[in-house]
Amino acid sequence: MRTALRIFLLAACATAAFADKVVLKDGRSFEGEIVEETAEQVKIKTARSALTFKMEEVDHIERGMSPLQERNKRLEALDGEDGGAYLELAKWMATAPKEVQDEKVLRRLCSAAAYLDPETAAAAQNLIGAWLLAAGKREDAADAFARVLKADPANEEAKKHLETLNSEIVARCRKDLDALKAAIEKARDLQYAAAIPLLRKAGKLYVADKCRDFVKLSIEELADDCQRRIPCPTCKGATTRQCTICKGKGTTECVQCKGTGVRKSAPPNPTFAQEICSHCYHTGALLCTGCDAERWLTIHYQTEVKGKKNVDVKVSAGVEKVELSKVVSLSKWTSRDGNVKVTALTAGQVVKGGTFTCRDCKGIKFDPPSEQPNTFGMADYLKAIEARMSGGETIEGVPVPETVWDPAELEGGKLKWKAGKWE
Ligand SMILES: [Zn+2]
Ligand SMILES: [Zn+2]
Ligand SMILES: [Zn+2]
Repeated sequence: MRTALRIFLLAACATAAFADKVVLKDGRSFEGEIVEETAEQVKIKTARSALTFKMEEVDHIERGMSPLQERNKRLEALDGEDGGAYLELAKWMATAPKEVQDEKVLRRLCSAAAYLDPETAAAAQNLIGAWLLAAGKREDAADAFARVLKADPANEEAKKHLETLNSEIVARCRKDLDALKAAIEKARDLQYAAAIPLLRKAGKLYVADKCRDFVKLSIEELADDCQRRIPCPTCKGATTRQCTICKGKGTTECVQCKGTGVRKSAPPNPTFAQEICSHCYHTGALLCTGCDAERWLTIHYQTEVKGKKNVDVKVSAGVEKVELSKVVSLSKWTSRDGNVKVTALTAGQVVKGGTFTCRDCKGIKFDPPSEQPNTFGMADYLKAIEARMSGGETIEGVPVPETVWDPAELEGGKLKWKAGKWE
């Protein structure tokens, strides 16, 4: 009862402090949320109704805080002890405008509520569970509902959610086991070319983290090990591939100026600023984005800028404009301070690009390890996978939580919010 009253008072104060206010010329004032404001009238939604006033009746309007300001103010009002207040704020945030909803903050609020006050645990975990479910984070939602049941074993709604989510997770685990089995089988049978792509995709699968226990290598390391045993079929063992877009040059001809570097619409006897092709910066060629090429550009000034007439700038494909504009004004073609004219711009050699590391072998060279592949370890691993598939060993599904709050969310134990972060 006392908690309920305190929450009520807190909510009441909060509304008063954060609301918009319309003050009329006759002295009356109304608080709420301004939902419409034009030159002629203002419409305010109060707790009881929506009211519209002609502007000529209105003395002035006081603006409340933006939802984000209000959120931060509310966060800063938390005292690090009152679990109920954390839950109330979480409730507010879960229904607040989208820009105010922050998953990380919301999760921490709910876990803090459950941690500080066991009475609020079921409601707090239910709230975050429902929110995560709506956000499509089904496994995280399942964890939250499992905590609801830990706090309140009779909670029917959580039980129903958990059953659905749990069977979903078990079904997903079964699919994972199939994929993992196929990958390990290929590796065990020394079919490296077939095994490698399957292993590369298997790292996050259910029980993939057990690979090291049996094979002495993680899934990723096993993929690398297989890769060393064959020349990559894609790059024939070269580990790099020529970029097909620029044919290994690192640059492509500028389509705007057809490689001349000069703008088509330049007037007769143009100045440098008038004739430079804004696309390729007078170089006639653009850095290839297909291979993330890089090159040097040299800016030539009319007179010295900071003691230098020529300045070299290293630029990267796709961001040339950004990098160049740090040094010179691209609209006026002068030094950044605007005092010295640019008279020419020349391109140096391409320092990176033309080729890229082969994506299939990730640049791993054909270099067979002296040790034989650990086929015995792989066979044991397969037995463990098959035991789960046949039901000999249970698929865990949603783990039973140890606490009604999520310890990961309360890491560091910081429960007070100050200047945009937990302290
Ligand atoms: Zn390229
Ligand atoms: Zn051009
Ligand atoms: Zn390759």
